[in-house]
Amino acid sequence: MIEIDISRAILEEYQRKLLDHLENDVVIVGAGPAGLTAGYYLSKAGLKTAIIERKLSTGGGIWGGAAGYNIVVTQDSEIPDEFEMTSKKQKDLYIYDAVEFATALAFKAKKAGTAVFNLMEVEDIILKTDRIEGVVVNSTAIAMGGLHVDPFCIASKVVLDTTGHPSEVVGMLTRRKPDLLPKGIQESFMDVNAGEAGVVNNAGEIFPGLYVAGMSVCAVYNLPRMGPIFGGMLKSGKKVAEMIVKKRKSFRK
Ligand SMILES: Cc1cc2nc3c(=O)[nH]c(=O)nc-3n(C[C@H](O)[C@H](O)[C@H](O)COP(=O)(O)OP(=O)(O)OC[C@H]3O[C@@H](n4cnc5c(N)ncnc54)[C@H](O)[C@@H]3O)c2cc1C
Repeated sequence: MIEIDISRAILEEYQRKLLDHLENDVVIVGAGPAGLTAGYYLSKAGLKTAIIERKLSTGGGIWGGAAGYNIVVTQDSEIPDEFEMTSKKQKDLYIYDAVEFATALAFKAKKAGTAVFNLMEVEDIILKTDRIEGVVVNSTAIAMGGLHVDPFCIASKVVLDTTGHPSEVVGMLTRRKPDLLPKGIQESFMDVNAGEAGVVNNAGEIFPGLYVAGMSVCAVYNLPRMGPIFGGMLKSGKKVAEMIVKKRKSFRK
């Protein structure tokens, strides 16, 4: 029966994908611009990469542009060009359609080999010794329903927090290790240039096995927010991907 064939195809394929990604080189938490960009460059370099995204859609804060006007602006076109996005130049800024921006990042990350698990959220980390070893995952629907249902676990050599403003994975760590970030998790007041530079310069490893990119970097280092400009998200995602790729030999042993 065709109805059963369709159901079987979905169930078998999803199970194959999930089982294949129970162990990863990199798990990225959050499929916003930073996470998708990192996923693309990590997969392109041959690292086994999965993204866990709480929402139904990938793209994070891209879709709404600024105040719901769905246009995205960057100061640099190098990474968007790699993703073959259509741009317009105005003064020193590059302008994009948010729908194309969000879908191009997701399309290329997936094509490069990144597995995306949407409607799944990371609710905790696995930390037994002195290094993060994976994440604890549950279905968003279960969390939204407030249901008392246990999660399952996904192993990873490296975890990347690209959860945006709340910096959720870092928060899971600092709840148990409050001295890790003495200033807590909070970004500072708006300053485009300082924020854009800071989010790229500070993107990196903050604890063995845990990296941050995107707005999460601002929250972790109390850097200025930079308003509706997205270049720093892409650049910090690419930067951490390159840092992780350089370390691949050490974490594979
Ligand atoms: C209130 C608000 C204020 C903003 N202010 C600024 C600003 O000052 N400066 C600025 O540049 N941009 C701002 N933005 C725009 C935009 O959010 C960001 O610039 C950009 O989207 C951040 O990119 P990102 O990749 O770091 O994270 P996001 O685009 O936020 O993507 C993070 C993704 O992680 C997912 N996620 C979070 N936690 C989990 C979890 N535990 N498990 C699984 N998935 C998870 C989220 O669902 C989301 O899709 C703001 C957005 C909002 C909503």
